[in-house]
Amino acid sequence: MNQRYSIYGLTKDRLAAWLLDHGHKKGRAERVWDWLYRQRVTDFQAMDDVNAECRAVLAEHFAVETLKEHTRQESVDGTIKFLFQLQDGNLIETVLMRHKFGLSVCVTTQVGCNIGCSFCASGLLKKSRDLTGGEIVEQVMKVQLHLDRKGRGEKVTHIVVMGIGEPFDNYDNMADFLRVIQDPKGLAIGPRHITVSTSGLADKITEFADSDLQVNLAVSLHAPNNELRTRIMKINRAIPIEKLLAAIDYYLEKTNRRITIEYILLKDVNDGKEHALELAELMGDRLVNVNLIPYNPVDEHAQYQRSAQESVLAFYDVLKKQGVSCSIRLEHGTDIDAACGQLRSKQLKLPS
Ligand code: SAH
Ligand code: SF4
Repeated sequence: MNQRYSIYGLTKDRLAAWLLDHGHKKGRAERVWDWLYRQRVTDFQAMDDVNAECRAVLAEHFAVETLKEHTRQESVDGTIKFLFQLQDGNLIETVLMRHKFGLSVCVTTQVGCNIGCSFCASGLLKKSRDLTGGEIVEQVMKVQLHLDRKGRGEKVTHIVVMGIGEPFDNYDNMADFLRVIQDPKGLAIGPRHITVSTSGLADKITEFADSDLQVNLAVSLHAPNNELRTRIMKINRAIPIEKLLAAIDYYLEKTNRRITIEYILLKDVNDGKEHALELAELMGDRLVNVNLIPYNPVDEHAQYQRSAQESVLAFYDVLKKQGVSCSIRLEHGTDIDAACGQLRSKQLKLPS
C-alpha cells in the first residue's frame, strides 16, 4: 500500500517551510491551512484558489485522509465511539463526548501501551507503534467532519489526550498535535480546553513544564503510597511517588496552573477512608484538583471491582474536609464501552 505522510502532521510553520522548499510562496500555507481546517475539504483538488501546480505537488507528497472509519457506535447519552483503521491496518479508538460546556474528543496516541497498568484495558496490548502527529490530528478532524455532515453547526471545543497510549512516551508527535489543533486560524482549540494525561513520566513532566505548550496536565496517581501504587501501576517501581511529586512541584512552580490528579477508586484496594487521609496529606497545599474516577471493570482484570457509591462519597468527603479540592468524574458512553480506560486497540490487522 502506498503510505503517504498525513498533511495534518505539519504545523503551519512547517507547511510554509515545505512549500518554500518546493518552490512555492510561503504565503500559500495560509490558504491551504484555511481549506484544511476551516473549509475542511479532504481533497487537495478542491482548494480552488491555490495554484494548480502547488495542489499537485502537495497531492504527490501528502495524503489528507489516512484513517478509515471502520465502525461507529453511538451511546444513549450521545457519546460516539469511532474505530479507525490506520494505513498499516491497525485499529485505534476515538471518543466524542457531549457535555454542558461543549463537545470533547478523547484521542489515542499509540497503538497499545507499554506502561501496562494492572487495571487498564489499553495496556493489555504492548505498544506496537507510536501514532504520528498527523494521525492524532486526523482523529479530531474525522470527528469534526462527522459533526459537519450532521449540519447542526456543532464544533469540537475540548480535547482530552486520554485514549489508548501514554502521550508522554510519544512526546514529539503529541507536541505537534497540540500545536496544530491550537492554531488560531485553524481548529483554534484553546490551551485551557486541552488536557493531557500521563501515568507519571517525571522527566517528561519537567520538559512539558519548560515548553511553550500551555495545556492542562492530568497525572494518574491512583494510590497514596509507593507500596500500593507499585501494586497497581508497575511504572511506580521506576518512577516512585517522590520523583513524581518533585516533577509535579517543578511544573506547578513553573506554570502556576492547577494539575488534575486522577484517582481511580478500586473496591477494597485504594478506596478506604485511611487512603483518603493519606492522599490528602500527600497532596498538602499543592495547587491540584483530585478527580475521583469510578472504575470501569475490565474482564481481563477481574481482581478489581468498582467501589460502592457510599465509599466514593465517603472518600470525597474526607478529601473535602481536609481542604483538598476534588470532584467525581461523570461517566460517558458506558453502554458502548467508550468509558475512560475501556478503550483497547484490537491490534488486529484487516486485509487492506
Ligand atoms: N496513559 C495515560 C492516558 C490514558 S489513560 C494515563 O494513564 O494517564 C486515561 C485515564 O484513564 C487514566 O487516568 C487511567 O488511569 C484511566 N483508566 C484506565 N483504565 C481505567 C478503567 N478501567 N476505569 C477507569 N479509568 C481508567
Ligand atoms: Fe497505559 Fe494509561 Fe492504560 Fe496505564 S492507564 S496502561 S499508562 S493507557
